[in-house]
Amino acid sequence: MVHLAQIPNDDHTTKPLVEGLKKVEFESVEDDCFTTSVYASKFAARDLPKHEMPEHEMPKEVAYRMIKDDLSLDGNPMLNLASFVTTYMEKEVEDLMAESFSKNFIDYEEYPQSADIQNRCVSMIGRLFNAPTDPDAAAVGTSTVGSSEAIMLAVLAMKKRWQNQRRAAGKDTSNPNIVMSSAVQVCWEKAARYFEVEEKYVYCTKDRYVIDPEETVKLVDENTIGICVILGTTYTGEYEDAKAVNDLLIKGNIDTVIHIDAASGGFVAPFVVPELEWDFRLEKVVSINTSGHKYGLVYPGVGWIVWRAPEYLPKELVFNINYLGADQSSFTLNFSKGASQVIGQYYQLIRLGKHGYRSIMSNLTRTADYLSDSLEQLGFIIMSQKSGTGLPLVAFRLDEAADKHFDEFALAHQLRERGWVVPAYTMAPHTEDLKMLRVVVREDFSKSRCDQLLTDIKLCLQVLDNMDKQEIKTREEYVKQHVSHSHKARHGHHHYKKEKHSLQGKTGKTHAVC
Ligand SMILES: *Cc1c(COP(=O)(O)O)cnc(C)c1O
Repeated sequence: MVHLAQIPNDDHTTKPLVEGLKKVEFESVEDDCFTTSVYASKFAARDLPKHEMPEHEMPKEVAYRMIKDDLSLDGNPMLNLASFVTTYMEKEVEDLMAESFSKNFIDYEEYPQSADIQNRCVSMIGRLFNAPTDPDAAAVGTSTVGSSEAIMLAVLAMKKRWQNQRRAAGKDTSNPNIVMSSAVQVCWEKAARYFEVEEKYVYCTKDRYVIDPEETVKLVDENTIGICVILGTTYTGEYEDAKAVNDLLIKGNIDTVIHIDAASGGFVAPFVVPELEWDFRLEKVVSINTSGHKYGLVYPGVGWIVWRAPEYLPKELVFNINYLGADQSSFTLNFSKGASQVIGQYYQLIRLGKHGYRSIMSNLTRTADYLSDSLEQLGFIIMSQKSGTGLPLVAFRLDEAADKHFDEFALAHQLRERGWVVPAYTMAPHTEDLKMLRVVVREDFSKSRCDQLLTDIKLCLQVLDNMDKQEIKTREEYVKQHVSHSHKARHGHHHYKKEKHSLQGKTGKTHAVC
């Protein structure tokens, strides 16, 4: 059977649905901006809005494509050998994380499972660091946005505990100080400045890039809130000797505590050198931070901090908030944040297990050793450790004896032309302006990519050898301009330039990317 349809007349098509209703007239938008082709639309021929929020909408396809195109001039994360931060995760966990974008982590009442998942991560990470689990004084910990937030919290806890002890003894609390290496990450300088704690530095020397334990302990006085020991410095990846500092404190009966900055090493050392004692096995270690987004293998930003026992995290700092009907204790600097990173961390912990992390970290250590040996053959001086006694990174510099007419910065610029980001640094202060290059070996840096890098380093050395000084200078300027995209790209405000309060401002130390 066929349905026959009658074509309605005009009267019928314009008749309102509800009898007597006046037809609502909308002003016509004179210029309908939707078009199915992004590059045929008017937007393709216009500047992207940069300073003032635009008056009108743009189609979502256009917004997506225009911003994606704009970002295509960013470097390729895979070739960025400057950073410790994760650039690879599996598709499944990317899906999981995307599905959680809309969850606010702080909302424990609404998302109790996400909160529980955080607690599972704290427990696994705490145990990885040999945290005490005695029910009367069990370790406590929390997720953070990264190690920087974790370190801020650690400094606050050490300071408050010191103040409480001093007050109880009727002593002055106006001059707290903290003892740390001059190779610290910039967040330690920030923490000291923001929370008004004097910085006491143990300086590196021309051939020692970590703290000297004796010197460290000598700097401690009654106003010291604690000592920072770095498990994997950002320059050379070396592990500072926490055990030596711990033992000297015990031997000298010195009443202060140690915080371990294991931002990078926290997920490496337990798998590669499990026998190394740097964590809660040392009795003076009261808190440890690590970055989930470095060797924890999660996209940024997630970090973790664990305290040995509640007594090291004074009550006054913890807020019990009743949020949407649920009681929760919280110690953070910010409030709302996404739950995705914590969920991503949980995925990695259970997906890989200890065996998976051990396999990955061992591969990275092998690749780093191979790169290190190859660079040594090429005539470089290697400044980092090998065989897992430090982080899987290679820090190296040109040999003065080779008497090259170019420096590490020139080589870095030359490599940049091939897309590789291998940063050059001026080391921590008191190291006679030692310059260095650094390659961080991350999960996605395989042996074959390592060989491509070596081929390019060889090529760049040849090119530089054949250039004269002036040519190198000109090339350097040219690449520098390209890196910042254009003369217009200015980051930073002239009001804050040339500050003189940081180690960088005072000594010319360049902070390593991490
Ligand atoms: C990366 C790093 C930090 C800062 O960590 P974020 O997670 O980036 O905030 C602090 N200390 C050390 C030793 C680091 O390597």
